[in-house]
Amino acid sequence: MNTIKFEDLQINDDIKKAIAEMGFEEPSPIQVQSIPVILSGKDVIGQAQTGTGKTAAFSIPILEKVDQNDRSLQAVVLCPTRELAIQVSSEIKKIGKYMPGVKTLPVYGGQPIDRQIKSLRSGVQVVIGTPGRVIDHINRKTLKLDNVKMVILDEADEMLDMGFREDIEMILSKTPEDRQTTFFSATMARGILDLTKKYQNDPQHIKVVRQELTVPNIKQHYIETRSSNKLEVLCRLVDVYNPKLSVVFCNTKRGADELVSDLQARGYFADALHGDLKQTQRDIVMDKFRSGTIDILVATDVAARGIDVDDVEAVFNYDLPQDEEYYVHRIGRTGRAGRNGISFTFVFGKDMRKMRDIERYIKTKLVKHEIPSIADVEEK
Ligand code: ADP
Ligand code: MG
Repeated sequence: MNTIKFEDLQINDDIKKAIAEMGFEEPSPIQVQSIPVILSGKDVIGQAQTGTGKTAAFSIPILEKVDQNDRSLQAVVLCPTRELAIQVSSEIKKIGKYMPGVKTLPVYGGQPIDRQIKSLRSGVQVVIGTPGRVIDHINRKTLKLDNVKMVILDEADEMLDMGFREDIEMILSKTPEDRQTTFFSATMARGILDLTKKYQNDPQHIKVVRQELTVPNIKQHYIETRSSNKLEVLCRLVDVYNPKLSVVFCNTKRGADELVSDLQARGYFADALHGDLKQTQRDIVMDKFRSGTIDILVATDVAARGIDVDDVEAVFNYDLPQDEEYYVHRIGRTGRAGRNGISFTFVFGKDMRKMRDIERYIKTKLVKHEIPSIADVEEK
């Protein structure tokens, strides 16, 4: 049992008050284990499943350590996607609600750089950014890293997958050597250990992983259906289960766009999130989804990484994910913060073998689900 309370942690009352308002009653296991170590100044590699509160695990120590009287940049958080940078920044702002002296700014591509430069000039102590845009600011000398004390890589495995390795190394090389370096990740990809050797100093590896890699309060099903029938099956499942919000994963942008048109044609409130959209379009889609204007988000893997929307009750793998880790990340979009979630993975024919690989990886069996009949749908 987890008996440590936020009260027991060496964090100031302003932070405690804000997290209480956010509804955090007690720290999650990754928070219990990493917050004291990060506060002590040690480098950390934190590993825990998606949805377990890794953001606050590093955000609380950042806020505790920032010197409010010093206007220089003190902490940099790197995130793989713009959505995640925005999300992490908003969580830090919430936790720092009663610390008006701390200025936080997300910097990411797709947003006019002039606005970011203006904000940076006003004195920002915590920057949350995607690697590309952070480098852009370094090159323009609008971001000075000489006084940075903490660097955090959030979703470090994903950043490496997405090819950010060189960018990350470039950024780290511009920060003072005596900085504190923390990596957070759901999985421990091999590349992380290379980065660790190069850029961390005697790091403590904190691992909070259950035997099964997915969160247990998610009911995971598979459904056998041929391609030509998938749209119909998806619609029936949505009608029968009526999830508040759903995320449907497709393997290609084109597939996602086509599915959105098909769903809209049938009267569903759906929209797509993928890498071809402009940043403003992506923001609009995410706002619509958060507020429930649309209730089905059709996404590709890269676009949906790290998305944390509380009311996602169902995840559909319309296309079988291409690797096991994607499966874990996709499923992690639901069942967040201890809520219940359900997932459906569509398979047909030779997909079954790949699905067995996934089951071995997550050490859990997916439960077969029959295609709902029209009668099931009409009963609803
Ligand atoms: P991760 O980065 O591990 O995938 P997040 O940091 O995005 O997970 O957290 C998932 C959700 O859980 C968020 O909505 C967050 O606000 C919430 N959360 C985090 N810590 C706690 C806590 N101690 N108590 C309750 N909810 C929490
Ligand atoms: Mg996270």
